[in-house]
Parts: sequence; structure tokens; C-alpha cells
Amino acid sequence: MSTRNVRRRLDQFLQNPSCEANALSVAMDMPMRDVAAHDGDPTREAQSPYALRRGAIFENALFENDAESLRVALAKAGVIASEQAIVVDLRLTRNQGPSMKNLDMARDAFALWLGGERDRAKKTHIFLAPAIDAPARDVLGDGILAPDIVVAHPVGDDRWELEIGEVKVYPDRGGHTDTSNLAATRSQAGLYVFALKTALASHTTITVRRAGFLVLSWAGTNRPSIRSGEDLEFRARAAERGIARLREAFASIAAPPEEPKRRLSVISQANTAYREACISFCARASHCHRTACSLRETNQRHRG
Ligand code: SF4
Repeated sequence: MSTRNVRRRLDQFLQNPSCEANALSVAMDMPMRDVAAHDGDPTREAQSPYALRRGAIFENALFENDAESLRVALAKAGVIASEQAIVVDLRLTRNQGPSMKNLDMARDAFALWLGGERDRAKKTHIFLAPAIDAPARDVLGDGILAPDIVVAHPVGDDRWELEIGEVKVYPDRGGHTDTSNLAATRSQAGLYVFALKTALASHTTITVRRAGFLVLSWAGTNRPSIRSGEDLEFRARAAERGIARLREAFASIAAPPEEPKRRLSVISQANTAYREACISFCARASHCHRTACSLRETNQRHRG
């Protein structure tokens, strides 16, 4: 699998940016399941194959027929004025996209649209998986990020506003939607707001909206449920702070070892900061949960 797409790594990091081991795993691109194996812990996959397949089926239904089901749902939710938006599908061919063979092609195609002021039709555009350069290239190298959806709204004669959309297959249960799922999804969307703003910093006619939308599923179906007007500014700032922490963690190692085994040792010995969300994404969760529990018991004994 290509490591150019740094989404997995940044998603992992933003779910627990306080953990030094997590930051180092992301910065040195060493998966936590390898660190867990190095610790001698049995590993488990963070996501079941069933969940991955369910996500793929949901996305395919959403994007087929020129993203008809997405356009209808976005128009109904008021994100776009009408279903007649232009869909630009930049998904890779291996993800059911029509023509983009790799991330560089997807990034160049989106950059061409961003830079081609005279050629843009003055109509709402819906970009599927438009790729952009990832922030923090000093730590993440030439990584690329591909948000699920970017809607480009024409504003006035010569301005455009971009709006981020994040797709997840878990059900929208209104006020009873899983709060940890929502928090993780908003963090991811906030990262894209930050990355897009960074990539467009010198652009004068294209800006990024602080609000975005989430595309979830109606419980038990493959139909989309849109949560519009999600304020992502706070999450974008958290992503910016997180990236700064990632840099600090990386800078704290004098010289990152070349040898994979030594990299695993460095991560294994780094400080951790266990939190409940770790269970949903990190292969070391059992190990860190045990460590956190025994630390708490020791502290309670000392206090007693
Ligand atoms: S499970 Fe442990 S190593 Fe993984 S993010 Fe949480 S505290 Fe860090």
C-alpha cells in the first residue's frame, strides 16, 4: 500500500495527540500493531474486515450515477442550492474512480482547477477525493491528503468558498449518535480544513469555510444522512496544535534510527497517555490500559 496518503497516520495521531508514543509512531511511520508485537502483546486489527466492506458498499452507493444520492441529500440538507451541481470524481481507479491512477494525478487535477480562474464554470462543484499536499512536510515528507468531499461554492463574480465533507458509515441517530465517533469524525474534518487553508494560504479568490458537513448513514440502510453546519474551526485549530506537537516529538529524538527494530524500541519506551478512545484505534490499547490501571492502583495504595 502507498504511504503517500498520510490520512491514516494523521487520523491516528489526532485521536490521541497527548501520547508521545503515538506521535513517534506517526512521525516514523511505524504502525502500532508492529510496536505491540515488539512489546510481545497479541495484536488485533483496529477495524474489522466487515466494517471496511460495509464502508466501501456505502461509499459506492453514495457516489454511483454521478453521485446522485449524495447530490440529492446535500440539496435536501441545504448544503447546495440544487441537485444540479458539477461532480468531479478524483477518486483513484482502485477506489472505483473513473481515471485517476495515483494520488499525484488527483492532486494535479485539483490544483489545475484551483489555479484556472478563467476556465471554471460558475456552478457549484462537488469534488470527490481531491488530493492536496499534507501539512508538516518537514515531518511527513511528500505526503498527500485526500478529503472525502470538497464542495466549491461560487460567491459573487470572482470568489469561491470551499466546504469540507467527511463520509462515515456509522448511523446518524440524531442526539443519540455515538459521541466518540462524532468527535473522531469532526477531528478528521478539522484536519482537512487546516490542510486546505494551509495549501491555499496565498490564494486571494478561494477561501475555506469554517463550517463543513458530515455524511453518515440512516440506521440500517445505505441511504445518507447529512449533518450540515458543523463548525470545524475549533477542530482545525486543534489539528494545527497537534501538528506542532508532532514536530516537537520528532525533534526530541536526536537522530531517528534507520533500523526498524530500533525505531520500534524508541516508540515502545516513549511516554504514553492512555485514554478511552485508544481502544477504538490503537493496537497497544490493552497494554496501555493494563499499565494505566496498575499505575492507578499503586497511587491509591500510596495515598491510603
Ligand atoms: S494505546 Fe497507548 S500507545 Fe496507543 S495512543 Fe493510547 S496511550 Fe498511546
